[in-house]
Amino acid sequence: MSGWQTRVRKVTPYVPGEQPSDTNVIKLNTNESPYPPAPGVAEALQGQDAGLLRLYPDPEASQLTCAIAKRYGLSPDRVFVGVGSDDVLSISFLTFFEGPEPLLFPDVTYSFYSVWADVYRIPYEKVPLDEDFRIRPEDYIGRPASGIIFANPNAPTGIALALADVERITAANRDKVVIVDEAYVDFGGESAVSLLDRYDNLLVVQTFSKSRSGAGLRIGYAMGSAEMIRCMNDIKFSINSYTMNRPAILAGCAVMDNETYYAGCVRRIVETRERAKKELAALGFVFPDAKTNFILARHEKMPAKEIFTRLREKKIFVRYFGSKRIEEYLRITIGTDAEMDALFAALREILSGAPDGEKHD
Ligand SMILES: *Cc1c(COP(=O)(O)O)cnc(C)c1O
Repeated sequence: MSGWQTRVRKVTPYVPGEQPSDTNVIKLNTNESPYPPAPGVAEALQGQDAGLLRLYPDPEASQLTCAIAKRYGLSPDRVFVGVGSDDVLSISFLTFFEGPEPLLFPDVTYSFYSVWADVYRIPYEKVPLDEDFRIRPEDYIGRPASGIIFANPNAPTGIALALADVERITAANRDKVVIVDEAYVDFGGESAVSLLDRYDNLLVVQTFSKSRSGAGLRIGYAMGSAEMIRCMNDIKFSINSYTMNRPAILAGCAVMDNETYYAGCVRRIVETRERAKKELAALGFVFPDAKTNFILARHEKMPAKEIFTRLREKKIFVRYFGSKRIEEYLRITIGTDAEMDALFAALREILSGAPDGEKHD
C-alpha cells in the first residue's frame, strides 16, 4: 500500500449493540428504557412549526441548558449539552486530557473510553478492578495521571461506588479533571452532583438515553464549574456550533418538564430488576449486585456465548461482549415484567438441556 491509505488515521471503532430492523424481538441488549417517553414529549413535537427548520437552532441550546440547570440547582453556565453523553464525553476527553501522563480508567468499563483516548492520541492506563469487579479508590490516588474517568454505577458491571469514595478520588486529584459518567445513576447510584460546589475539578456526565426513555433523542449533558464548561464550549465551537437540532431541544425541554413520570418508570424498572435477581439466581446465574437497568450475569454451567446464541434464536437479544475478564458474562437489560418473564421462560428451556456437573470454559 502506498496511496492515501498509508496516511489514514487508524482506529478500532466502538462496537454498538445490535439494533435489529425486526421489531418483533425482545430487545434487552442496549440498556434502553422499556417504557415510552412522557406523553408531553409527543405533544411538544406535534405542536412544532416545521417551517422553523430553515433556521439554525440556538447554538447554546439555552432553553434546554436552563431546564437542566434548574433541575439540579445549578447556574446555566455550569451545564453543557451535547448529542448524547457520547458526544459530551468525547468533547470532554478532547478538552481535558492531553497527557503526557496517562488517563486512568477501570479495565472493565464503558469500552468507548479507550476508543476516544486512541482517536485523540491520549495516553491511558487501564486500572484493574478487584476480583469482585469493584473499583478500588486507592488505585486512583497518588498515581501519575493526566485525568481520571469512571462510570458510577460502572458499566457493564452494574456496581455502584459510594459517594464518599468518589469524593476521596476527586479530593486527591485536585490538579486534574475527574469525570464521573452517571449514565445509570438514577437506577440506584449516589450522584456526585452534590460535590460540585466543593470541587472545581469534577465533571458529572448524565444522559437522557436510559432513565429518561430518550435514547433516540440523543441528548446528554455535563455539569461542572463554569470554567470547565467554558473550556468545553471552546472546543465544541471549534468543531460544530449547531450540535443540538431544534426538535431535540424542544423534546428535551418537554422531558425535563415530566420528571415525575420518569421517576415512576425508574421505580418500575428497579422493581423488575430486583425480581430478575431472584429469578436469575434460581436459574443458576451469578452476578454482581446491579444498581443499574441491566444485570451482568454468568451462568454456573452453560457458556455465555451459547446462551446468547440460543436466546437470539428465540428472538431475545441480550449483550455478549466476549471481552477480557467478562468472557463468561451476559449483560441483560431490564425490560418490562412481561419481557422478563419471556426471558426467564426461554432460559429455563435452554438450561434444561444443559449438561450437568462439569464447568465449561
Ligand atoms: C449508554 C452510556 C453512555 C452514552 O449514552 P448516550 O446515549 O450517548 O447518552 C455513556 N456512558 C455509559 C457508561 C453508557 O452506558
